[in-house]
Amino acid sequence: MIYVDSMHGKLARILRVFGVSCVYIDPSIDDNKIIQMLGENDVLVTSDIELSKRVRRSILLRDQNIKTNIQIIVSNGIVLDIDNPYCYVCNIKLERHGNKYRCNTCGKWFWRGKQWRNLREYLPDCLKESLQT
Ligand SMILES: [Zn+2]
Repeated sequence: MIYVDSMHGKLARILRVFGVSCVYIDPSIDDNKIIQMLGENDVLVTSDIELSKRVRRSILLRDQNIKTNIQIIVSNGIVLDIDNPYCYVCNIKLERHGNKYRCNTCGKWFWRGKQWRNLREYLPDCLKESLQT
């Protein structure tokens, strides 16, 4: 599981759309609790240098540039599964209905319209080229 710190809420939502299940860490949770929460194979995405040093598997982000950050995450071995998106609100895998997707938790419908085309800009270039719509 991937945990994303509270500085990167937008990044967490976009990763879900790109098929990466990730937990957003509430800003009220302190560092010691975060470390306790993490299992052996969990990855922490953070901009907190001190915290990242205390976690075995962490990805340190230096700024808020979403595209750069997604590239860093991918280069750290996290695989984007863009055909199997998660609900960006609930972090639940969406069910596919033709060319639409539905979240069984919140009931929202998603399809790859204008919003998706805007989000695609954040994909690493190699993945963008392999996509059709
Ligand atoms: Zn949902």
